[in-house]
Amino acid sequence: MVVVSMNSNIVIIGCGISGITAARKLVSSGFNNVRILEASARSGGRIKTARLGNNVVEIGANWIHGPSEENPVFSLARKYGLLDPEALTPENQAMDVAGHPPWTPKIFCSSGRKLNAEDLYPAEELFAELLKECSEFHSQGGEPCASVGEFLRTEVQRRAAERWKDIDATTRSLRLCMISGLLKLECGVNGTHSMDEVGPGAYGLYKTLPGLDCTFPGGYEGLIKNMMSELPSGLVSYNRPVRCVHWSNSEKRENPIVVECDDGERIAADHVIVTVPLGYLKKHRSTLFRPPLPLHKLHSIQRLGFGTNNKIFVEFDSPWWDADCDIICLVWEDEDVLVDQVPDVQRPWIKKLFGFTVLKPTERYGHVLCGWIAGHESEYMETLSEQEVTQAITQLIRRFTGNPVITPRRILRSQWFHDPWTHGSYSYLGKGCSAQDLENMVEPLPTKGSQSQPLQVLFAGEATHPSFFSTVHGALLTGWREADRLISHYSSVSPSQPATSKL
Ligand SMILES: Cc1cc2nc3c(=O)[nH]c(=O)nc-3n(C[C@H](O)[C@H](O)[C@H](O)COP(=O)(O)OP(=O)(O)OC[C@H]3O[C@@H](n4cnc5c(N)ncnc54)[C@H](O)[C@@H]3O)c2cc1C
Repeated sequence: MVVVSMNSNIVIIGCGISGITAARKLVSSGFNNVRILEASARSGGRIKTARLGNNVVEIGANWIHGPSEENPVFSLARKYGLLDPEALTPENQAMDVAGHPPWTPKIFCSSGRKLNAEDLYPAEELFAELLKECSEFHSQGGEPCASVGEFLRTEVQRRAAERWKDIDATTRSLRLCMISGLLKLECGVNGTHSMDEVGPGAYGLYKTLPGLDCTFPGGYEGLIKNMMSELPSGLVSYNRPVRCVHWSNSEKRENPIVVECDDGERIAADHVIVTVPLGYLKKHRSTLFRPPLPLHKLHSIQRLGFGTNNKIFVEFDSPWWDADCDIICLVWEDEDVLVDQVPDVQRPWIKKLFGFTVLKPTERYGHVLCGWIAGHESEYMETLSEQEVTQAITQLIRRFTGNPVITPRRILRSQWFHDPWTHGSYSYLGKGCSAQDLENMVEPLPTKGSQSQPLQVLFAGEATHPSFFSTVHGALLTGWREADRLISHYSSVSPSQPATSKL
């Protein structure tokens, strides 16, 4: 028997965008016992805006990827008036950049010389061609190699030998060094240590939306603040980490679930929506649930990847880059063997930093660059003092510009790997992953066929979206999905109490 009541106790674990959207949808559909338990002292999770001096910078999510009608983050941000006018234009929404915005790059080499965007073009073109081929493997039903990294390296060498055979050795070598830089960039995009850890079979499951990526002039957290203001006050309990979700595989009737918090509080619930990041789930998978998760779910949690991508914001008194430059790529001239990881992460860890994006417009941000560094090198960087990171960045910039006096005014970096509630940045599809792993992540507990009360534990969060994993819009949609699952469950058992969404 199902308890038919809009008074059902629903506990949501985590107050990131997926938890907030699930709560909003449930509350606006008439559920009046919804509660969010959040481990940290704030809402937003991986949406986190900070200040570097007077500048607004994003420690977590940066862009709305694919800001167009289909993207619910775009629609909400537009509704709240949080976007610049350019982002709202039909032209901006119609631009299909397939995840790679048309930025103007400037290339700096480790010898201190500067190259033009055209010098990068052949390397960029070859790399883009190969990534496109990778994204088609899943629909062709085969994995032609063990990892995306292996495919990229093998094919770059093969095609470069064919296509660039008449080009002088120095230029050919430089192009291969540039491709090493692009591999590091791709590690950041995927949130992985190395492209050798990314599965070729599922790589193409990630989907992009039309629209030229845009930012929030006042900070991404403005979205969270607006959404939170529409929730009843007191709905979120902060500093309330959940230690264990006790659910039931047997035929118990009411309140089969007990949510046990770190402080010892035990909360009875009819349904729990778990939105903790995959990094947290990987680390605590064997203690977070009693009884433990079914084996197929555990295996998928292990197989799916969750890596680190960090940012290092660097502010300068004046720019040393050109005004039209959107992105600064660093090319190490000793990397023509196609590497995306350093042999010993502790020593030249900075070699993993592929380059910087320029924060624009200057009137808003001043002279600030955002360096991007992924993988274990990035995790190691988190353990260093701010002074050590500043020193490494200063040496790097002086070497690549050939200018021995450039000195940053200050830096600010993210440390997502050492965040105890996240343990990394975002998810990717690791080697051996398939769409089934994402389906396993989504599947509620108890699983189908059980005689115990249905829909006790539901799963949301970016790592549970079948094609928009690793994004804010993906996370948002999973919150709606799980709220809808409960709404339609109660609508079907209680037709007199239709649970229609107002969102
Ligand atoms: C550096 C970086 C850059 C990014 N850039 C972009 C971007 O440009 N565009 C984009 O679309 N996406 C980006 N993302 C990804 C995006 O931020 C996430 O996909 C999205 O915010 C995830 O939302 P979520 O609700 O799934 O998880 P989260 O926001 O992580 O929320 C989960 C919540 O659960 C809480 N929690 C964890 N454990 C417990 C526990 N035991 N008990 C209670 N609470 C717990 C956490 O504190 C957290 O608040 C980026 C992420 C990072 C880290």
